[in-house]
Amino acid sequence: MRKIEFNARKYMLASIVSIACFVTLAGASTAGELTGQEEMKRPILIQGPMPIEAEEFASRLKDVEVEESGSTFEFYIGTVDDYPVIVSKTGKGMENTAAATAVAILKYNPAAIINQGTSGGHDPDLNVFDIVLGERTVNIGSMKTGDRAEGEGIVATDWKPMDVMASEGSAGEDPNAEKARYYDADPDLLAAARKVKDSYTKGKIVEGTIGSADLWNNEVDRINWFHENYGTSVEEMESASSAMISKAYDVPFLAIRILSNNKTNNGAYNPETAAANQEYVYEVVREYISFLKSK
Ligand code: SAH
Repeated sequence: MRKIEFNARKYMLASIVSIACFVTLAGASTAGELTGQEEMKRPILIQGPMPIEAEEFASRLKDVEVEESGSTFEFYIGTVDDYPVIVSKTGKGMENTAAATAVAILKYNPAAIINQGTSGGHDPDLNVFDIVLGERTVNIGSMKTGDRAEGEGIVATDWKPMDVMASEGSAGEDPNAEKARYYDADPDLLAAARKVKDSYTKGKIVEGTIGSADLWNNEVDRINWFHENYGTSVEEMESASSAMISKAYDVPFLAIRILSNNKTNNGAYNPETAAANQEYVYEVVREYISFLKSK
């Protein structure tokens, strides 16, 4: 067993230091309490998983410095229209994204987070190069299977959503956890994205539900099942993870995803979509910056 020593003098000193830190941080980290000038200094964070989903935007930043964290995360720190903007290359998948989001929030205290990149269509009315503004995002990999004894098989269509944030009790036993948790987009970010819709000419822009999981679905019946049961427009591997962590720290969040493929209407994968999405997101960021400046 580890022995814990209680040293009263050390404790008092630590308390004074932490109270002082708390007072300083409290004034700097809560969006609601900041003056306009202070809030202006908080960067906008743009996340992209793969190099092709981050580097186009990063190349548009002015006065860029690159910071690395761990072996995976890269942050391109620069400006757009003289306002601080950071492009974060998160790596693929839910874990990388959650960690990159938490690291960025603690390191840079962003005013807002946009998670963007490619996705696969769940809606047959959407084509490659169309863009989905994530009115809401949902984890489509967090699931509870049916109760089946040995020999009773594996029936994926019986699986139910599982909400890991429902309670601190067992997700397996808690009936309240048997529902999908949807994260809503921040209304101001969504408004900025709507305002610059017309700047995008390579496809249409719709609002919808973005489903995320460490999974690539190629079974059209399964894709249709998600579309019907979760209301998903597209799937990808990151947005819901970033939305969850952004919400935990109360940072405004929006996901913007372009279709790079759509199994439901034979839309073949096209990597060029990644750059097209960043061109549009760049316009969204400029619009959001003018909104912040006008506040
Ligand atoms: N086919 C690509 C690999 C993309 S890997 C290649 O060979 O380079 C998955 C990345 O693309 C993830 O960041 C995910 O968010 C996104 N993505 C695009 N379409 C997807 C789909 N249909 N299902 C899951 N993720 C998809």
